[in-house]
Amino acid sequence: MQRKLASVQRVLEVHAIEGADFVELAKINGWQCVVKKGRFRAGDLGVYFEIDAIPPDAPAYRFLWAKDSPEGTRPARYRIRSMRLRGSLSQGLLLPLAEAGVPDGTPDGTDVTERLGVGKYEQPVPTNMGDVRGAFPPIAPKTDEERVQSAPEVLGELAGRPYVITLKCDGTSATFGWNPLDETFHACGRNWSILEGDNLYWRMARKYDLPGKLAGLAAAGRRITLQAEIVGPGVQKNRLGLSTPELRVFSVWDATRARYLDDSAMRDLCASLDVPVVPVVEAGEAFAHSLEHLLALAERKYPGTSNEAEGIVIRPRVEMRSAALGGRLSFKAISNRFLLKGGDDD
Ligand code: ATP
Ligand code: MN
Repeated sequence: MQRKLASVQRVLEVHAIEGADFVELAKINGWQCVVKKGRFRAGDLGVYFEIDAIPPDAPAYRFLWAKDSPEGTRPARYRIRSMRLRGSLSQGLLLPLAEAGVPDGTPDGTDVTERLGVGKYEQPVPTNMGDVRGAFPPIAPKTDEERVQSAPEVLGELAGRPYVITLKCDGTSATFGWNPLDETFHACGRNWSILEGDNLYWRMARKYDLPGKLAGLAAAGRRITLQAEIVGPGVQKNRLGLSTPELRVFSVWDATRARYLDDSAMRDLCASLDVPVVPVVEAGEAFAHSLEHLLALAERKYPGTSNEAEGIVIRPRVEMRSAALGGRLSFKAISNRFLLKGGDDD
């Protein structure tokens, strides 16, 4: 699902911040952000910009970047960040409808990202990622995870069910599998198939002999696509502290049956293929965590390092559909400590 970087949202609660005379705290979905005092009351609608939104270059947003840029010019790749204001966590920007130029009466939940021309901050693309071969092939859905704060209904959907929480491994997403349409093996990034060569995707394919192993499964009647994070030196900041690039599988798509394998089947298959999977942070029989609990669980270090982990990913142990997400029930909680430290900055 495309992120709603700017949308009409109802203010759920407004709280005073101790010692602050001019600002207070507004709650939107699972997010909280600091706003000017008296501007919003619980029940009001506003336009909410999520973190990573790049607001348009218009007067209403200029106050955001005047401080950072001496000549009043827009700083390169300006984006809404997580920050602490008057001691309170503030994530996102909330403006009255009129100030954002959104007509009164626009319903709660309306995505106004395109209408307002809101951009998205993207991490810079590393240099060793190869050349594009073509479009993402029909070997699996593209990889993505929704943030729990943007769809807190997922907590209710998962409640009471067996669940597994894995460590979000900070690297770059890769998808590997045989495409029946052209009968060739594809190594892909998030959005493209990558040309075979001396690049990270294909180095990983060769390191784990994925073309051979997945051809073996296909010959036995199982067409399988592996989705894994490439982690290690040369990828992001190598926060896992590895000495050589490796894979951490986070999803296995059974293309023959057009569905994801459940967590235990994924782990069994990857063990038999000798490909590492993402580590489990916690598994349980009946999910009951609150948003706050998950955000606390997300704040941790990568094992054996002093590096802040990016966060966690939460799923049912048996795959299921989410009405809130309009797809697979699976979501992430990004560590606020990681975000406040500017963890995903370049
Ligand atoms: P956003 O949509 O929030 O702007 P994004 O689209 O770049 O960010 P990510 O933050 O990269 O998404 O989160 C989803 C990705 O996390 C997955 O596509 C996958 O590549 C990666 N990932 C790493 N570890 C895991 C894990 N344990 N479980 C699932 N995905 C994981
Ligand atoms: Mn995404």
